Amino acid sequence: MTTAGTDTEGLQADEPLLPGYGQTSLADLADSLLASLGVPGASNPLGLAAAPRVCLLLVDGLGWDLLRRHRSAAPFLAGLLETGCWLTAGFPTTTATSLGSLGTARPPGQHGMLGYQVRVPDTGHLLNELRWDNAVDPVGWQPGSTIFERAAAAGVGAIRVAARAFRESGLSVATMRGADYRAAETPGALVARTAAALAGERRALAMVYTGDLDATGHVFGCTSAAWRYQLGHVDRLAEQLAGALPAGAVLYVTADHGMVDVPPEQRTDADVVAELRRGVALLGGEARARHVYAEPGAAADVLASWRSVLGDTAWVVGRDEAIETGWFGPVDSRLADRIGDVIAAARGVSAVVATQTEPRESALVGMHGSLTPAEQRVPLLSYVM
Ligand SMILES: [Zn+2]
Repeated sequence: MTTAGTDTEGLQADEPLLPGYGQTSLADLADSLLASLGVPGASNPLGLAAAPRVCLLLVDGLGWDLLRRHRSAAPFLAGLLETGCWLTAGFPTTTATSLGSLGTARPPGQHGMLGYQVRVPDTGHLLNELRWDNAVDPVGWQPGSTIFERAAAAGVGAIRVAARAFRESGLSVATMRGADYRAAETPGALVARTAAALAGERRALAMVYTGDLDATGHVFGCTSAAWRYQLGHVDRLAEQLAGALPAGAVLYVTADHGMVDVPPEQRTDADVVAELRRGVALLGGEARARHVYAEPGAAADVLASWRSVLGDTAWVVGRDEAIETGWFGPVDSRLADRIGDVIAAARGVSAVVATQTEPRESALVGMHGSLTPAEQRVPLLSYVM
């Protein structure tokens, strides 16, 4: 495995940590996994070793910095850190976008899963890409192939193991269709169903998803005792998976993003500060990665007022600058109008909440979405059975 990065943590970076698209992003991991299984057309930017059967454990919210800081709560994963490295999630650092990158092996600007809430150009409404909306056809929204379709076409078993609720979700269909889905509601069931599925295949890619660590971090914070205890359960899950895989199989562990805790005094409320709503047609994204859609002709004014209000608490850029700087990777011109006219990515531990219009999200303790190392860096760990 190549070492994308092994340096120490850094929460308060002065510059955004831009995703390493084409080299060390989650899309590149997906492409490398296909290549390691011999799927035609896949390159192997991460240099993963050839393997007949591969299992990817996707731990929602397990940032590289968080794992390194809590080694003692996760002894099995800590042991894998010795040979592991960090990858960059992509932008924004949110589940829907990262699942798009992992599921399609393409960067956000190509697969079009561009945030937690994005404008649907045809209707002018916001689409919550995590929870979806039946009015939007997921295949029309993301028409490109998935890694499971490509694997299956090459005779490689394509398996997903996760909670039943995600089987037919819009996000699943958009980003991960084509897999043989094995529903599993508990950690024990995840392990048993993954092991059974892989045992039945000569060549296979299995993706296992667990979301409880992220959920715990959102409610209690990623610096809480609850988060550390939950990490212990993730560690046990990974260890059991490693022990249950057939000979010759490789277990990889990664995440969709990290997390930071946002204290109350670092929150700017877009439902209170009027300047953040002036000229704004739709407020999208999430608290640490805002897509701001301006009224016609108001984009420059919105950019100026967001910069003025947020100062050095966020990187605030216009759509063209975000695209040119490579926040989303190369952007398909047909997808560009899903991006906000203005994008605000939180620095440090700040956030732009909306307590009236987004009461549930605004109450969260742990958040993610931006370009800080704490959110952007995710682990890539491996274990060969
Ligand atoms: Zn989350």
